[in-house]
Amino acid sequence: STQRLENKVVLITGASGGIGAEAAILFAKAGSNLILLARRADKLNAVAEAASAAHKAAGVQAGGKIAPIVLDVSDAKQVEGLKAKIPAELQNVDILVNNAGFVLGVDKIGDIKEDEMAAMFETNVYGLIRITQLFIKDFKARASGHVINIGSVAGREAYAGGGIYCATKAAVRSFSQSLLREVVDTPIRVTEIQPGLVETGFSVVRFHGDQSAADKVYQGLEPLVGKDVAEEIVWVAARPPHINIAELFVMPVNQA
Ligand code: NDP
Repeated sequence: STQRLENKVVLITGASGGIGAEAAILFAKAGSNLILLARRADKLNAVAEAASAAHKAAGVQAGGKIAPIVLDVSDAKQVEGLKAKIPAELQNVDILVNNAGFVLGVDKIGDIKEDEMAAMFETNVYGLIRITQLFIKDFKARASGHVINIGSVAGREAYAGGGIYCATKAAVRSFSQSLLREVVDTPIRVTEIQPGLVETGFSVVRFHGDQSAADKVYQGLEPLVGKDVAEEIVWVAARPPHINIAELFVMPVNQA
């Protein structure tokens, strides 16, 4: 039951759109307090307002707190300074959702650009690791906490043209497994969620803004939407404390 999520502090990276934004709303509905991170302040603030409305609609007491914080996970200095920006009452994070990520270009390995390669690793891998490092010591000290990493089907099986993105998501999978084994003698939980095709802002970013190329990917199937994956995130977080969903692989029907 999502009752277990009431009054928990949930930190979500990449909360300004797509899966992360939908997750923010669902956690708010469940009565969780939120720390929401992303680079675009306007989008992030709009999500924070929608989450606040969800708090009110769900009858969450005035105690329901939401802190939108503009932050680029690919910037080590900004991540280092994050805790100083988190309000005192939200310092004890219970659930960390490492969701920020993107794919740039679908290129042949010989054509991959140095800056795109670096950007994908910086956000999808190093950013996720940095944010985890920031909170895992607290989780260990408190003997509680849940890290939920958003990987991808692309991390399970690589496809042609996905050279760097697939490699970043394979790294997320591998890192999640290491982390889980590192905390296996504690109550800390580690989950990696591996979605298939989800129609979000990500879909068109991938093709450098080319909408018709983006649409072609979804021919012959009904892609997942951000809310579908957000529901899975909330579901794993709300399991009884003795259950850890280590991996959750969720695909649209008809995706090969
Ligand atoms: P969106 O592009 O809709 O959302 C991505 C979010 O990440 C945005 O809020 C964006 O906000 C944020 N973000 C990107 N880079 C950074 C950064 N450096 N620092 C902080 N925030 C950042 O995509 P999705 O919701 O689809 O993607 C969410 C996750 O799901 C990603 O990890 C993606 O790889 C994964 N995924 C997506 C699939 C899909 O088909 N869509 C399939 C499988 C996995 P802002 O620009 O404001 O920073």
